[in-house]
Amino acid sequence: MTIRLADTHAHLDLPELLPDQDAVLGRARETGVNLIINVGIGLQNSRQVLATARKHPGLRATVGVHPHAAQSLKDGDLEALTPLAADPLVVAIGEIGLDFYRRRSPEETQKHWFRRQLAWAFELKKIVVIHTREATPATLEILRDSRAWLHGGVMHCFGGSWPEAQAFLDLGFYLSFAGPLTYPKAQDLRDVAEKAPLDRILLETDCPYLTPQPWRGKRNEPAYVAATARQLAAVKQLSLEDLARVTWENSLRAFGLEEKDVLGDI
Ligand SMILES: [Zn+2]
Ligand SMILES: [Zn+2]
Repeated sequence: MTIRLADTHAHLDLPELLPDQDAVLGRARETGVNLIINVGIGLQNSRQVLATARKHPGLRATVGVHPHAAQSLKDGDLEALTPLAADPLVVAIGEIGLDFYRRRSPEETQKHWFRRQLAWAFELKKIVVIHTREATPATLEILRDSRAWLHGGVMHCFGGSWPEAQAFLDLGFYLSFAGPLTYPKAQDLRDVAEKAPLDRILLETDCPYLTPQPWRGKRNEPAYVAATARQLAAVKQLSLEDLARVTWENSLRAFGLEEKDVLGDI
C-alpha cells in the first residue's frame, strides 16, 4: 500500500535548503510526500516560494511576512504583493502572527502588521497560516477581531496547551504538528494531539528547523515528515496508513485543494 504524506509547512527556499533543493525534493518523493506547502516569510522570499511552486505540480506557496520581519514593512508593501498573493498557486496568506519569544520586531509593530495582513487575507478570501510563540492571548484577541478565520486557517507548529488548542479549534482552525511532537520531553504536546479531533490535524516539518527524532540536531527536510507522522499515528492509535490518509485529506480540505490538481511529481 502506498502512502501519501503532506508537509503543510516548509521553507524550501531558505539558504539551508536551496543549494540541494532538487535532492531534497527527490528524497521527499521517495518517502511518499506528495504535497508541500512552501511558506513565505518576507517580501522577497514570498516571490521566491511562488517561483519554486510553479516548477513542481505537488507544491503550493503562501505569501506573507513573518512577525520577525514586521518592522521592515512599510505602507504600500502589501498592495505591491497583492498580484502575487492572488495567484491561484498561492493557497494562503502566511506565515503571519506574533512572536514575543524572540521579539525581533517590537510588540506593537508585530500586532499592527498582523492585523493588516489578516485584513488583507480576508479581502483576498485566502486562508491564513499563523505563527504564534509566547503570544497566545494577543493572537486570539486579534484573530477574533479580524474575521480572517472565516476563510479558514492553520495554527502552524502548534505547541500550546489543550485549552489554547480548544480556543483555536473553536475558531475553525486546524492544528499542525511538527517535529517537537517526537521529542522525549513533549508528553504534554502528545496529550494535546491525542485529544485533537481527527479531522483538524495536519503534519508539517517547518524545515529547515525543528528536526524530528531521530534526526534531531541535523538540518530538517520534507522527507522527515514521516517521523512526525509515525509519532502522530502512535498517539492517535492508528496505523501509519490510516494516519497518512486522514492528514492527507485534511491537508487538501484545509488549503482548498483538489487531489487531481496536486498529484504528479513534487
Ligand atoms: Zn513559524
Ligand atoms: Zn515556518
